[in-house]
Amino acid sequence: MKEQKNPRKPIIYYYIAAMVMVMLLNAFVFPLLIRQKINQVDYGTFLTQIENGKVRVVEIEENQIGFITVDDEGKENIYVTGRLDDPELVSRLHKANIKFSKVIPKQNSPLMNFIMTWVFPIILFIGLGQIFANSLQKRMGGNAMTFGKSNAKVYVEAQTGKTFADVAGQDEAKEALTEIVDFLHNPGKYKDIGASMPKGVLLVGPPGTGKTLLAKAVAGESKVPFFSISGSEFVEMFVGMGAARVRDLFKQAQQKAPCIVFIDEIDTIGKKRDNGGIGGNDEREQTLNQLLTEMDGFNGEKGVVILAATNRPETLDKALLRPGRFDRRVPVELPDLAGREAILQVHAKKVKIDKDVDFNEIARASSGASGAELANIINEGALRAIRCGRTKVTQSDLEEAVEVVVAGYQRKGAVISPKEKQIIAYHEIGHAIVAAKQTESAPVHKITIIPRTSGALGYTMQISEGENVLMTKEEAFNKIATYTGGRAAEELIFGTYTSGAANDIEQATKIARMMVTRLGMSKNFDMMALETVSNQYLGGDASLICSPETASKIDEEVLSIIKKAHEKAINILKDNMEKLHELSRYLIERETITGDEFMAVLTR
Ligand code: ADP
Ligand code: MG
Ligand code: ZN
Repeated sequence: MKEQKNPRKPIIYYYIAAMVMVMLLNAFVFPLLIRQKINQVDYGTFLTQIENGKVRVVEIEENQIGFITVDDEGKENIYVTGRLDDPELVSRLHKANIKFSKVIPKQNSPLMNFIMTWVFPIILFIGLGQIFANSLQKRMGGNAMTFGKSNAKVYVEAQTGKTFADVAGQDEAKEALTEIVDFLHNPGKYKDIGASMPKGVLLVGPPGTGKTLLAKAVAGESKVPFFSISGSEFVEMFVGMGAARVRDLFKQAQQKAPCIVFIDEIDTIGKKRDNGGIGGNDEREQTLNQLLTEMDGFNGEKGVVILAATNRPETLDKALLRPGRFDRRVPVELPDLAGREAILQVHAKKVKIDKDVDFNEIARASSGASGAELANIINEGALRAIRCGRTKVTQSDLEEAVEVVVAGYQRKGAVISPKEKQIIAYHEIGHAIVAAKQTESAPVHKITIIPRTSGALGYTMQISEGENVLMTKEEAFNKIATYTGGRAAEELIFGTYTSGAANDIEQATKIARMMVTRLGMSKNFDMMALETVSNQYLGGDASLICSPETASKIDEEVLSIIKKAHEKAINILKDNMEKLHELSRYLIERETITGDEFMAVLTR
């Protein structure tokens, strides 16, 4: 149930207004309306009219007589007159040949009367009022009665419908949040020992790792009201609205305590205040200041816990991060192998899946994928199963789905000349042989020369056996060698350079640069930091922090690493020339080969 106590209040005023209105109508307007048409005349006039033969119909009531006359133009008029004790009346009417009758007084029950004049109009007014208010609310996208107030949605458990069971992996994050759930359940336990909960918890991590999902799960688990608002909702077109919203949000939250306030994408309002440049952004600053003030203003014992999520923690204002505000930070990182497997399994529950699907295999093939991407893989797999006319998702569906998510759909209609196909095949086998021959490099999972919608003409998929948390200098170097392996094969066999290596070049350079500028893997610069990463969770753009002279030395260093790796790749391929030919022919024939097939030929 959506709870909306506050916004209802003004409706009461509206009801009172409606009631007064009905009263006024009853007392003045209705009688006036009725009276207007009926003219009151004296008894003498009534008798004169009868004698003149103008009267057509007479109705005798308890205390009055109503009659209708027709004037010369044939227009009807209605009159009433008081009823006198006139025994002659009946014979008089009969003589004049006038229709007459005595009205039997209607004994309207007082209850019915009351209902008709009071209850019915009130119900009608309320009904109309509701319809009007609802339509207005819809049109404005908010609550018409609380214009200018926070649109924070109040959720109670059923609303999010998520629990920790829906969040796979992320065990550390869940553990940290479980404590908060526990606190909201029995704050007494914490008060007894004198511990107080952190006021604010900041979830940080790359997009799609489940930050929003985690917050919803906390709401679902703790069964307390859950106010959720997105940072962008604070940024309003009316000046001062953002701050007003923050104030209102916290006011509501304190009334509802214990409860959770969730501010998604907090970086939209929480940006550092000093980087404004010209003029700055007053509106945003006011909102942020209000947020800081509010967070100081209440004490955590009340049971208001503020959750926030962002993928740009480095842009947040320092004041937000100091103890007493968002003093706890929960990293929500990209899932590791076990995490990926678990996430795949959670999402696989929503689809019909073949019982011998190996999730571990899929998880290994999707290294680096976020939770959102893994959810997407399952869905793509299900879609493919339907396209193939199956009723269950199979292993091959999921394998193809990984490739769809990584490289896009197959371009079945793409026309590629046999010559180009040959070059692509040698290029891919070049990567694969270099990767396989360097023991430290991950084994090849799959090689294909079917073009994809992402623009890839073919690719070699590598999977790591286990999951390493560290990368040695040798491993980094070998990775670069593997990237250069494609071009190396082209050079050796065809003596040409094609554009197919563009992405390889980019990747190889990235790793080489990182080795020199950030990982301290070059002799010349030792452990000197030469770059800082500005947004670690969004692509990790780095900016140089060194003199121009050093920058050119870095370039030299990077170049020499790549050159060395390239040379290594060429040598490996030269040593395995026969296998290069054999495997390339095999790949052209089959278009897609598995890692096992590849290794079988290579080690034959
Ligand atoms: P974020 O807020 O970190 O960008 P979301 O919480 O919006 O990411 O996650 C997007 C979707 O990805 C979720 O709705 C869910 O389907 C899926 N997802 C992400 N992480 C997980 C996870 N750990 N377990 C299960 N599903 C996940
Ligand atoms: Mg999110
Ligand atoms: Zn390549």
